[in-house]
Amino acid sequence: MPASFSAYLRDIHTSLGGLNDGVVANYIPELALARSDWFGISVIATNGKTFEVGDCDRPFTIQSISKAFVYGLALEDRGRDYVNSKVSVEPTGEAFNAIVLDEVTNRPSNPMVNSGAIATTDLIDGKDAADRLKRMLEMFERYTGRSHDINVPVFLSEKTTGHRNRAISHLMLNFGMVSDRIEETLDLYFQQCAILVTARDLAMMAATLANGGVNPVTGVRALDSQYVKDVQSVMFTTGMYDYSGEWAYRIGLPAKSGVGGGITAVAPNCLGIGTFSPPLDAKGNSVRGTQVCEALSRDFGLHVFSAGRPRYDLARLLETPDE
Ligand code: GLN
Repeated sequence: MPASFSAYLRDIHTSLGGLNDGVVANYIPELALARSDWFGISVIATNGKTFEVGDCDRPFTIQSISKAFVYGLALEDRGRDYVNSKVSVEPTGEAFNAIVLDEVTNRPSNPMVNSGAIATTDLIDGKDAADRLKRMLEMFERYTGRSHDINVPVFLSEKTTGHRNRAISHLMLNFGMVSDRIEETLDLYFQQCAILVTARDLAMMAATLANGGVNPVTGVRALDSQYVKDVQSVMFTTGMYDYSGEWAYRIGLPAKSGVGGGITAVAPNCLGIGTFSPPLDAKGNSVRGTQVCEALSRDFGLHVFSAGRPRYDLARLLETPDE
């Protein structure tokens, strides 16, 4: 048994820091500037206790992780039935940026692929573009307890080069699946992907979901309780791109990753995990972040269907003061 939970995190940070697999995303120049040795792990329990090691204050763009939380806001704005009529919740074997819609309903497969995420962003209310962005940023602030900036070069870079996302959007417009304010919605989508977060923010967002939608430190409700299970269900089945099935099998936690190198993972009623490490595997998930979640799940029996006795007693370790 490690001396404390912080000591445990320091150990895995050291051992996984030596793992040099994976490639930093380079589809836009700004992302390629990230250093491959940046590595942070933050864990926040549902009682607000925070444990962290490494680069937990270093900002990076949230990218696809935003999709899960914007889905929650769309559910609040439009209700479950309406959102479901526009975006399905079915996992797909296709790549996250596939140009595929359901042949019968024309719906995108789920809110975690780009088509579904753009259709979800389209549903965000607000009186104009600025108001929609403001509502989105306020939503993230409720989860993290702090305000967020946008990395403008990343936003502009995605806006200039995002021809594929634009193509997907126009296909959905053709089928009447999105409204005709599509350029405004695309801007909003590129902005949401360029929001700056830290590993600590991602842990707090996960801890908020783990805590039934209430931020465990500020006490602020971030998501209507009736939608907490919806957001986590799509994270569980589709959050890790085309690795979601294997992730559910091996790690068994609702999670979402982004090409910026972040992962947010929820252990319901227990804790939130936030990791940051830019090198990605072939599926687009952070190599070290995946390993961190696998270690935590295995050592503490966090898999949501876990029945066996865990290697370490988490409750006891969380109470043990750091030396
Ligand atoms: N902004 C990216 C895109 O739309 C998000 C990619 C990601 O994190 N998978 O392509």
